[in-house]
Amino acid sequence: MNRKDFLSVTGLAGISVFTGVTSAASNAKPGLKESESPVKINYEKIRLELWHDWTISRGTATYKENVFVYYQKDGITGVGEAAHMTAAGQDADRTIKELELLIPLYKNRLPHEFFDLPNRANKILPGISPAKAALDIALMDWIGKKHGLPLYKFFGLNPETKVKTSFSIGRDTPDAMKQKVAEAAPYHILKIKLTNDGDEDVIRTIRSVTDKPIRVDINEGWLEKEEAIRKIEWMAGQGIELIEQPMPENMIKETAWLKERSPLPIIADEAVNFAQDIPKLADAYNGINIKLMKSGGLVEAYKMCMVAEALGMDIMIGCMIESSAAINAAIQLQSLSKWLDLDGNLLIRNDPYSGAIFRDGQWWVSDLPGIGGVKRDAKRF
Ligand code: MG
Repeated sequence: MNRKDFLSVTGLAGISVFTGVTSAASNAKPGLKESESPVKINYEKIRLELWHDWTISRGTATYKENVFVYYQKDGITGVGEAAHMTAAGQDADRTIKELELLIPLYKNRLPHEFFDLPNRANKILPGISPAKAALDIALMDWIGKKHGLPLYKFFGLNPETKVKTSFSIGRDTPDAMKQKVAEAAPYHILKIKLTNDGDEDVIRTIRSVTDKPIRVDINEGWLEKEEAIRKIEWMAGQGIELIEQPMPENMIKETAWLKERSPLPIIADEAVNFAQDIPKLADAYNGINIKLMKSGGLVEAYKMCMVAEALGMDIMIGCMIESSAAINAAIQLQSLSKWLDLDGNLLIRNDPYSGAIFRDGQWWVSDLPGIGGVKRDAKRF
């Protein structure tokens, strides 16, 4: 790559205009200069209808309300999405309030400050916020489109590396779970939620109808380490691939005890949100589950991948119930992962976007610029 191309790809050509380095500016392609045109940011709620009822502790949902963010500048629109953990008190109205707090920051800074913007956003609004994720994804989609590059290329990643994704099956009656396994025929790996109540029976039920690899997610449900290791040793003989968040996030010592003895990898989910959480988990977990809605978008997720890799930890990329906008964004990072759990868009009947193709149990990333999402024709629904 010559210097001109390097500057174009990294976005440094545009920045150099502002820093007055005229030699770089004169080499830059006109279309890649950082223009002074204003940034416009809009958002809308979209009701996503689910193929099946989604049961959570508070009841059953038939739809989800996600918030879509549109970052516009220079005639280019980047799309982002916020999905919500209702159990954590998140919803579309709260996200809209948070967007209103953050939008002035994103409007007043240059788009190529994309690496710095999440840090500034954290000062305005600390902690987990799907609004931060939606803004970051929309901006990164814009950056990719501006440079004519899919984001996996922008991050320098290999599109040939594909990872099979799991499909989640919730806790239900034995007959209903068997039915769900039958419906999950296109997926090569299953993820089963356990609750510390009849765990072995659940595995036996699933195993009676399929020999596919199974990942189990305990959601912090095991409280006794001796009982936990006994279950893990039994599961190792049942074709279980990994154990996600077996014990409460604050039981790090007990989880480290478990990891030392476990024949299966132990993965953190509830225990990890941001890159700064990872170092203290290195002794207790073999890997981490990264979700864009928790991290606050792609930039922090990419940082998390770098930190985990440096600490010798493996990476799972997971999701919420998200349309193909946010799922396409996560798929851009798939070659950094060992395990994928990206099935949220497959649960939605009226997905407003398309992009990556799901085939042979894995995602084939779109070659379109940015996150690679394409708006579907609304008349199709
Ligand atoms: Mg989990």
